[in-house]
Amino acid sequence: MSATATSNAARPLRLGVSSCLLGAAVRYDGGNKRDRFLSDVLAPYVEWVPVCPEVEAGMGVPREAVHLVGDPTAPRMIGTRTGRDHTVAMRRFAAARVRALAALDLCGYVFKKDSPSCGLERVRVYAASGTPPPSGASRRTRASQAGGAPTRRGRGLFAAAFTAAYPSIPVEEEGRLQDPLLRENFIERIFCYRRLRSLLVRPTRGALVAFHTAHECLILAHSPRAYAALGRLVTARGGARPAAHARRYGDGLMAALAVPATVTKHVNVLQHIAGFCRAHLSSGERRELATVIDDYRRGIVPLVVPIRLVRHHVERHDVAYMKMQVYLNPHPKELMLRNHV
Ligand code: SF4
Repeated sequence: MSATATSNAARPLRLGVSSCLLGAAVRYDGGNKRDRFLSDVLAPYVEWVPVCPEVEAGMGVPREAVHLVGDPTAPRMIGTRTGRDHTVAMRRFAAARVRALAALDLCGYVFKKDSPSCGLERVRVYAASGTPPPSGASRRTRASQAGGAPTRRGRGLFAAAFTAAYPSIPVEEEGRLQDPLLRENFIERIFCYRRLRSLLVRPTRGALVAFHTAHECLILAHSPRAYAALGRLVTARGGARPAAHARRYGDGLMAALAVPATVTKHVNVLQHIAGFCRAHLSSGERRELATVIDDYRRGIVPLVVPIRLVRHHVERHDVAYMKMQVYLNPHPKELMLRNHV
């Protein structure tokens, strides 16, 4: 994790985004790929930092379409009509732009899927033949002239540069964000990353312990193994200085939260919280809570239902350890993300 955190907890939640996803007319054909969730639903909660690598690298609008060619681990960016090679210019641009983004303290990035610049995964990479396809050629013709059917193993050149520079920053593609589970996971991670950046401003041992304590249930819902490892890391008395220690913790935390939460893991956490409330509840309330958690396990109600009930008991009975758990309020309720998982 980069150590450039500089401001406090009220910092804006700033996200990088492929410009076309917010409706900017920057695509090769002058169009856009506006995504309603990003531009309408999420927008009030974040500050967008739009980037169009191809336009900012000087390729213009409209422009010749490009695709990736050659070795999927180090592909070249080639014009589909002229065969013009944009690789060096794009790599140079990407390195400089990615460096400049460090000053903006991004908490996440949403990339446009399938793009030879912005795609995060499964971007088409064509085998190299050295012969540019003719003007106006169909995709099939282009594929055959470029050396055959593409593999789906590429990553856009800008996305590759960004993820290599900032491996802990949460990233996603707009296509994957259509999936309610992946959407909830990504939003949870960007809010968590912002809290982490605030911690890193003054990462004392006491602050790290408090941070970890508040995130225990959240981590448990993703990875019980990471929960144990991070707990050991927090309490370890080693030679590492607090800042380095906290950065190591932050890297481990973000890796843990990238592991998908599952129904089974949520049920374990909910039962764990119910255990803390147990002494305060009547037998009828205990039965009701157990039934609601089981309804969630069986897929009859979404996660928001048992969460609401445990939160009600935690607040009503002032269960101190649980009241501080981020798990019960990981992102704005208005986004209604847990109504669909
Ligand atoms: S996918 Fe990336 S390069 Fe292509 S138009 Fe959108 S922002 Fe620009």
